[in-house]
Amino acid sequence: MILKERTKSINHRILESLNCRMNLSFNEKLQYKNQIKGFEGEKQFDHYMKDSLINGLVINDLILNTQDTQYQIDSLLITADHIYLYEVKNYSGSYHYKEGSLFSKSGHILQSHLAQADRKKAYLYNLLLKYGYQTAISSYVIYINPNFYVYSLPPDPAIIFAGQLPDHFTQFGGKTPIANDRNIAIAEKLVNLHDSKYRPSNLPEYEFDQLEKGILCPECFSFDYTASRQLRTCSQCGHQEKTTEAIHRSIEEFRLLFPDSRLTKQLIYRWCGSTWSKSRIQDVLSNNYHTHFAGRGTYYS
Ligand SMILES: [Zn+2]
Repeated sequence: MILKERTKSINHRILESLNCRMNLSFNEKLQYKNQIKGFEGEKQFDHYMKDSLINGLVINDLILNTQDTQYQIDSLLITADHIYLYEVKNYSGSYHYKEGSLFSKSGHILQSHLAQADRKKAYLYNLLLKYGYQTAISSYVIYINPNFYVYSLPPDPAIIFAGQLPDHFTQFGGKTPIANDRNIAIAEKLVNLHDSKYRPSNLPEYEFDQLEKGILCPECFSFDYTASRQLRTCSQCGHQEKTTEAIHRSIEEFRLLFPDSRLTKQLIYRWCGSTWSKSRIQDVLSNNYHTHFAGRGTYYS
Protein backbone atom coordinates (compact mmCIF):
# COMPACT_ATOMS: atom_id res chain seq x y z
CA MET A 1 0.00 0.00 0.00
CA ILE A 2 1.51 3.36 -1.00
CA LEU A 3 0.99 5.94 1.74
CA LYS A 4 2.94 8.69 0.04
CA GLU A 5 3.18 8.87 -3.73
CA ARG A 6 6.27 10.03 -5.55
CA THR A 7 6.17 13.47 -7.11
CA LYS A 8 8.83 15.67 -8.65
CA SER A 9 10.89 17.27 -5.89
CA ILE A 10 10.62 21.00 -5.18
CA ASN A 11 14.12 21.40 -6.55
CA HIS A 12 13.09 19.62 -9.74
CA ARG A 13 9.92 21.68 -10.20
CA ILE A 14 11.67 25.00 -9.57
CA LEU A 15 14.47 24.20 -12.03
CA GLU A 16 11.91 22.99 -14.58
CA SER A 17 10.10 26.31 -14.38
CA LEU A 18 13.24 28.44 -14.39
CA ASN A 19 14.68 26.53 -17.34
CA CYS A 20 11.69 27.76 -19.40
CA ARG A 21 11.71 31.29 -18.07
CA MET A 22 15.38 32.32 -17.89
CA ASN A 23 18.82 31.27 -19.06
CA LEU A 24 20.30 28.80 -16.64
CA SER A 25 24.06 28.55 -16.33
CA PHE A 26 25.85 25.40 -17.48
CA ASN A 27 25.98 24.06 -13.92
CA GLU A 28 22.34 24.88 -13.22
CA LYS A 29 21.33 23.07 -16.40
CA LEU A 30 23.39 20.10 -15.26
CA GLN A 31 21.65 20.24 -11.88
CA TYR A 32 18.29 20.20 -13.71
CA LYS A 33 19.32 17.27 -15.90
CA ASN A 34 20.39 15.32 -12.83
CA GLN A 35 17.00 15.98 -11.24
CA ILE A 36 15.26 14.61 -14.33
CA LYS A 37 17.52 11.56 -14.44
CA GLY A 38 17.09 10.89 -10.72
CA PHE A 39 13.31 11.15 -10.96
CA GLU A 40 13.21 8.77 -13.93
CA GLY A 41 15.28 6.27 -11.95
CA GLU A 42 12.97 6.51 -8.97
CA LYS A 43 9.93 5.94 -11.19
CA GLN A 44 11.66 2.84 -12.60
CA PHE A 45 12.19 1.61 -9.06
CA ASP A 46 8.49 2.19 -8.31
CA HIS A 47 7.56 0.05 -11.32
CA TYR A 48 9.63 -2.84 -10.02
CA MET A 49 8.03 -2.50 -6.62
CA LYS A 50 4.52 -2.32 -8.06
CA ASP A 51 5.10 -5.33 -10.32
CA SER A 52 6.27 -7.38 -7.33
CA LEU A 53 2.91 -7.03 -5.55
CA ILE A 54 4.67 -6.68 -2.22
CA ASN A 55 2.90 -6.53 1.10
CA GLY A 56 3.89 -3.55 3.18
CA LEU A 57 3.49 0.17 3.59
CA VAL A 58 5.43 2.34 1.15
CA ILE A 59 6.46 5.95 1.69
CA ASN A 60 8.24 7.78 -1.14
CA ASP A 61 10.30 10.99 -1.11
CA LEU A 62 10.28 11.47 2.60
CA ILE A 63 12.08 14.61 3.80
CA LEU A 64 12.97 14.46 7.48
CA ASN A 65 14.77 16.73 9.90
CA THR A 66 17.02 15.51 12.65
CA GLN A 67 18.23 18.48 14.68
CA ASP A 68 19.94 20.60 12.03
CA THR A 69 20.28 17.89 9.40
CA GLN A 70 17.79 17.44 6.60
CA TYR A 71 17.75 14.28 4.58
CA GLN A 72 15.58 12.76 1.90
CA ILE A 73 14.68 9.10 1.77
CA ASP A 74 13.84 7.93 -1.75
CA SER A 75 11.70 5.00 -0.66
CA LEU A 76 10.76 3.28 2.58
CA LEU A 77 9.07 -0.08 2.83
CA ILE A 78 7.57 -0.70 6.26
CA THR A 79 6.63 -4.29 6.99
CA ALA A 80 5.25 -5.71 10.21
CA ASP A 81 8.64 -6.09 11.86
CA HIS A 82 11.24 -4.38 9.71
CA ILE A 83 11.89 -1.17 7.78
CA TYR A 84 13.70 -1.22 4.42
CA LEU A 85 15.30 2.02 3.29
CA TYR A 86 16.13 2.42 -0.41
CA GLU A 87 18.55 4.91 -1.88
CA VAL A 88 17.94 4.88 -5.65
CA LYS A 89 20.77 5.87 -8.01
CA ASN A 90 20.37 6.26 -11.76
CA TYR A 91 24.01 6.09 -12.82
CA SER A 92 24.96 4.71 -16.20
CA GLY A 93 28.28 3.62 -17.70
CA SER A 94 31.03 1.51 -16.24
CA TYR A 95 32.97 2.09 -13.07
CA HIS A 96 35.76 0.31 -11.31
CA TYR A 97 35.78 -0.79 -7.67
CA LYS A 98 39.00 -0.41 -5.73
CA GLU A 99 39.61 -0.41 -1.98
CA GLY A 100 36.09 0.63 -1.00
CA SER A 101 35.58 3.30 -3.68
CA LEU A 102 34.01 3.47 -7.12
CA PHE A 103 36.14 5.09 -9.80
CA SER A 104 34.82 6.47 -13.09
CA LYS A 105 36.71 5.94 -16.36
CA SER A 106 38.17 9.42 -16.01
CA GLY A 107 39.55 8.43 -12.60
CA HIS A 108 37.12 10.38 -10.40
CA ILE A 109 35.86 8.82 -7.18
CA LEU A 110 32.10 8.62 -6.65
CA GLN A 111 30.80 9.53 -3.22
CA SER A 112 30.06 6.40 -1.27
CA HIS A 113 26.38 5.69 -1.74
CA LEU A 114 26.49 2.93 0.87
CA ALA A 115 27.77 5.36 3.47
CA GLN A 116 25.06 7.84 2.42
CA ALA A 117 22.32 5.22 2.87
CA ASP A 118 23.84 4.09 6.17
CA ARG A 119 23.82 7.63 7.52
CA LYS A 120 20.15 8.00 6.68
CA LYS A 121 19.45 4.67 8.34
CA ALA A 122 21.10 5.90 11.55
CA TYR A 123 19.17 9.20 11.49
CA LEU A 124 15.90 7.37 10.93
CA TYR A 125 16.62 4.82 13.65
CA ASN A 126 17.32 7.55 16.20
CA LEU A 127 14.31 9.59 15.11
CA LEU A 128 11.97 6.63 15.61
CA LEU A 129 13.61 5.85 18.94
CA LYS A 130 12.79 9.39 20.03
CA TYR A 131 9.12 8.57 19.46
CA GLY A 132 9.34 5.28 21.31
CA TYR A 133 9.78 2.88 18.40
CA GLN A 134 12.75 0.58 18.34
CA THR A 135 12.75 -0.96 14.89
CA ALA A 136 15.23 -2.91 12.83
CA ILE A 137 16.13 -1.02 9.67
CA SER A 138 18.11 -2.23 6.64
CA SER A 139 19.40 0.18 4.04
CA TYR A 140 20.06 -0.59 0.40
CA VAL A 141 21.57 1.21 -2.54
CA ILE A 142 19.70 0.47 -5.76
CA TYR A 143 21.54 0.96 -9.05
CA ILE A 144 18.43 1.13 -11.19
CA ASN A 145 19.98 1.67 -14.61
CA PRO A 146 20.63 -1.62 -16.46
CA ASN A 147 23.53 0.15 -18.21
CA PHE A 148 25.46 0.64 -15.00
CA TYR A 149 28.31 -1.73 -14.37
CA VAL A 150 31.03 -1.92 -11.73
CA TYR A 151 34.13 -3.99 -12.44
CA SER A 152 35.64 -6.03 -9.58
CA LEU A 153 32.84 -5.22 -7.17
CA PRO A 154 32.80 -7.74 -4.31
CA PRO A 155 29.25 -8.93 -3.61
CA ASP A 156 27.49 -6.84 -0.97
CA PRO A 157 23.90 -7.62 0.05
CA ALA A 158 23.27 -3.90 0.56
CA ILE A 159 23.91 -3.18 -3.14
CA ILE A 160 21.16 -4.19 -5.55
CA PHE A 161 21.31 -3.88 -9.32
CA ALA A 162 18.19 -3.48 -11.48
CA GLY A 163 18.19 -7.12 -12.55
CA GLN A 164 18.25 -8.31 -8.92
CA LEU A 165 15.29 -6.23 -7.77
CA PRO A 166 12.48 -8.69 -8.64
CA ASP A 167 14.26 -11.36 -6.56
CA HIS A 168 14.78 -8.92 -3.71
CA PHE A 169 11.10 -8.01 -3.62
CA THR A 170 9.93 -11.65 -3.81
CA GLN A 171 10.56 -12.02 -0.07
CA PHE A 172 7.84 -9.42 0.69
CA GLY A 173 5.05 -11.09 -1.26
CA GLY A 174 2.47 -13.63 -0.20
CA LYS A 175 2.51 -14.56 3.46
CA THR A 176 4.19 -11.48 4.90
CA PRO A 177 1.57 -9.62 6.92
CA ILE A 178 0.86 -6.21 5.41
CA ALA A 179 0.36 -4.19 8.51
CA ASN A 180 -0.35 -4.18 12.19
CA ASP A 181 -1.19 -1.32 14.55
CA ARG A 182 2.44 -0.68 15.30
CA ASN A 183 3.78 -0.33 11.78
CA ILE A 184 0.74 1.71 10.73
CA ALA A 185 1.48 4.05 13.63
CA ILE A 186 5.15 4.28 12.57
CA ALA A 187 4.18 5.00 8.96
CA GLU A 188 1.67 7.66 9.95
CA LYS A 189 4.21 9.28 12.27
CA LEU A 190 6.76 9.46 9.43
CA VAL A 191 4.27 10.87 6.93
CA ASN A 192 3.35 13.53 9.52
CA LEU A 193 7.02 14.35 10.06
CA HIS A 194 7.56 14.89 6.32
CA ASP A 195 8.82 18.45 5.80
CA SER A 196 6.59 19.73 3.00
CA LYS A 197 7.95 23.29 3.38
CA TYR A 198 11.51 22.23 2.66
CA ARG A 199 13.33 24.48 0.19
CA PRO A 200 16.72 23.51 -1.15
CA SER A 201 19.49 25.99 -0.43
CA ASN A 202 21.33 25.56 -3.74
CA LEU A 203 18.75 27.15 -6.06
CA PRO A 204 19.69 29.61 -8.81
CA GLU A 205 19.07 33.28 -8.05
CA TYR A 206 16.05 34.78 -9.81
CA GLU A 207 13.69 37.73 -9.63
CA PHE A 208 10.17 38.25 -10.91
CA ASP A 209 11.08 40.93 -13.46
CA GLN A 210 13.80 38.83 -15.02
CA LEU A 211 11.58 35.80 -15.76
CA GLU A 212 9.68 35.28 -19.00
CA LYS A 213 5.94 35.57 -18.39
CA GLY A 214 3.12 33.43 -19.69
CA ILE A 215 1.44 30.11 -19.02
CA LEU A 216 3.57 27.05 -19.78
CA CYS A 217 2.15 23.94 -21.40
CA PRO A 218 2.32 21.18 -18.75
CA GLU A 219 3.31 18.63 -21.39
CA CYS A 220 5.89 20.34 -23.61
CA PHE A 221 6.61 23.60 -21.70
CA SER A 222 5.73 25.82 -24.67
CA PHE A 223 4.32 29.30 -24.06
CA ASP A 224 2.44 29.29 -27.41
CA TYR A 225 -1.27 28.68 -27.41
CA THR A 226 -4.59 29.39 -29.02
CA ALA A 227 -7.62 30.11 -26.90
CA SER A 228 -11.34 29.68 -27.21
CA ARG A 229 -13.78 30.83 -24.55
CA GLN A 230 -13.14 27.94 -22.19
CA LEU A 231 -10.07 26.17 -23.50
CA ARG A 232 -6.36 26.83 -23.83
CA THR A 233 -4.76 24.73 -26.57
CA CYS A 234 -0.99 24.38 -26.86
CA SER A 235 0.19 25.36 -30.35
CA GLN A 236 3.15 22.98 -30.13
CA CYS A 237 1.71 19.70 -28.86
CA GLY A 238 -2.04 20.27 -28.96
CA HIS A 239 -2.54 19.70 -25.23
CA GLN A 240 -5.90 21.12 -24.16
CA GLU A 241 -6.77 22.44 -20.76
CA LYS A 242 -9.60 24.47 -19.28
CA THR A 243 -8.43 28.08 -19.18
CA THR A 244 -9.29 28.42 -15.50
CA GLU A 245 -7.24 25.31 -14.73
CA ALA A 246 -4.28 26.62 -16.74
CA ILE A 247 -4.38 29.90 -14.82
CA HIS A 248 -4.69 28.06 -11.50
CA ARG A 249 -1.73 25.85 -12.40
CA SER A 250 0.32 28.89 -13.29
CA ILE A 251 -0.57 30.58 -9.98
CA GLU A 252 0.70 27.46 -8.18
CA GLU A 253 3.94 27.69 -10.17
CA PHE A 254 4.23 31.33 -9.10
CA ARG A 255 3.73 30.34 -5.45
CA LEU A 256 6.41 27.68 -5.81
CA LEU A 257 8.91 30.24 -7.13
CA PHE A 258 7.87 33.12 -4.87
CA PRO A 259 6.52 31.63 -1.64
CA ASP A 260 6.80 34.95 0.20
CA SER A 261 5.09 37.16 -2.39
CA ARG A 262 1.51 38.32 -1.93
CA LEU A 263 -0.84 37.06 -4.63
CA THR A 264 -2.57 39.98 -6.29
CA LYS A 265 -4.68 40.19 -9.41
CA GLN A 266 -2.24 42.59 -11.05
CA LEU A 267 0.80 40.42 -10.33
CA ILE A 268 -0.85 37.23 -11.59
CA TYR A 269 -2.12 39.10 -14.64
CA ARG A 270 1.49 39.92 -15.50
CA TRP A 271 2.72 36.46 -14.51
CA CYS A 272 0.28 34.81 -16.92
CA GLY A 273 1.58 36.94 -19.78
CA SER A 274 -0.77 39.98 -19.60
CA THR A 275 -3.11 38.39 -22.13
CA TRP A 276 -5.88 36.81 -20.02
CA SER A 277 -8.61 39.13 -18.79
CA LYS A 278 -8.17 40.47 -15.27
CA SER A 279 -11.74 39.49 -14.37
CA ARG A 280 -11.01 35.88 -15.26
CA ILE A 281 -7.81 35.93 -13.19
CA GLN A 282 -9.72 37.44 -10.29
CA ASP A 283 -12.31 34.63 -10.57
CA VAL A 284 -9.60 31.97 -10.37
CA LEU A 285 -7.99 33.73 -7.41
CA SER A 286 -11.20 34.17 -5.44
CA ASN A 287 -12.41 30.64 -6.21
CA ASN A 288 -9.22 28.94 -5.10
CA TYR A 289 -7.63 31.15 -2.47
CA HIS A 290 -8.55 33.02 0.65
CA THR A 291 -9.39 36.67 -0.11
CA HIS A 292 -7.98 39.42 2.10
CA PHE A 293 -9.92 42.63 1.43
CA ALA A 294 -7.79 45.72 1.64
CA GLY A 295 -9.43 48.07 -0.88
CA ARG A 296 -7.22 48.36 -3.93
CA GLY A 297 -4.62 46.26 -2.17
CA THR A 298 -6.77 43.11 -2.03
CA TYR A 299 -4.62 40.00 -2.00
CA TYR A 300 -5.06 36.24 -1.80
CA SER A 301 -3.43 33.40 0.09
ZN1 LIG B 1 2.39 21.57 -25.34
